[in-house]
Formats: sequence, structure tokens, C-alpha cells
Amino acid sequence: MAKKKSLKGLGARYGVKPRKQYTKIQLQMKSKRSCPDCGSKKFGRESVGIWACKKCGFKIAGTAYDIKL
Ligand SMILES: [Zn+2]
Repeated sequence: MAKKKSLKGLGARYGVKPRKQYTKIQLQMKSKRSCPDCGSKKFGRESVGIWACKKCGFKIAGTAYDIKL
């Protein structure tokens, strides 16, 4: 089996499909986004379901892993 960039926390127990989804979500969560209000890149997830901009303080409720715009 080829060594791929593995994500810790999920073993082989869940099978391939959820793991792929998990990886996708992790990437989505960590990807840079810009603030819908001021366009700053300091926009990110503050806590589960809450996304906030560190520059202008703009807050938006989203899902646990992504925002809906
Ligand atoms: Zn902002």
C-alpha cells in the first residue's frame, strides 16, 4: 500500500468512504477564506458553527465545517 499523507485520529475502522469525506472536510476547514464583510483573510472558524473575522469582528453562523454564503 502506498504511503499517503495520513490524517491521525481516524484509523482503518471506518472504511474508505468516510475517511475520504473526513479528509475533504479537514481540507475545507483549514482552507483559507476571506471575510464576506471586509475581505480580510483572517476569517476562520471560531468554534463549531461560528465563523468570525479577526480583523473586523464580523461573525456568521455556519455549519460545523463550512460556511454557507
Ligand atoms: Zn472582516
